Amino acid sequence: TNKRLTNLNNIIQNLAPLMQADAVSAGKSIRLELTPIPDLLVDEKEIRQIILNLTRNGLEAMGQGGHLTIKTLRQEDEVLLSVQDQGSGISPEIIDKIGTPFFTTKDNGTGLGLAICYSIATRHGARIEIDSSPAGTVFAVHFPLA
Ligand code: ADP
Ligand code: MG
Repeated sequence: TNKRLTNLNNIIQNLAPLMQADAVSAGKSIRLELTPIPDLLVDEKEIRQIILNLTRNGLEAMGQGGHLTIKTLRQEDEVLLSVQDQGSGISPEIIDKIGTPFFTTKDNGTGLGLAICYSIATRHGARIEIDSSPAGTVFAVHFPLA
């Protein structure tokens, strides 16, 4: 890996046009709620991959319309990156299986997106927390401070 001190807000802002284009072509929108956070020691390419995978999943989870919200927040000795959708949630029967390589509920899914996110998180000492309800899902990546 290739870690440098980088600000997650910059990575998100650089990806925003690409993500907005994906969202708009699917009739959805993305809201950014970025707050001041310290730089972290991260591999920018890998962080881009986490953000894109979580964003694509969130957009795919929503039917017509809907907002996806991407937030950053400093919370005690962590930086949180969260992606929140307004889909219908993850059913309890499959919650333990998601992130297992090749597990997918989609006709054309690879089932690799979340597995990649988990391995990137592990390489950054980060953990991923999922909060899902029938009103939507939040994936929060908790990064330790550099
Ligand atoms: P894929 O997107 O190719 O199916 P992923 O590893 O990205 O593979 O996701 C695995 C599965 O986890 C998905 O098929 C879906 O069932 C579930 N999932 C992931 N993200 C969400 C989400 N935001 N809302 C609902 N279900 C999700
Ligand atoms: Mg996916």
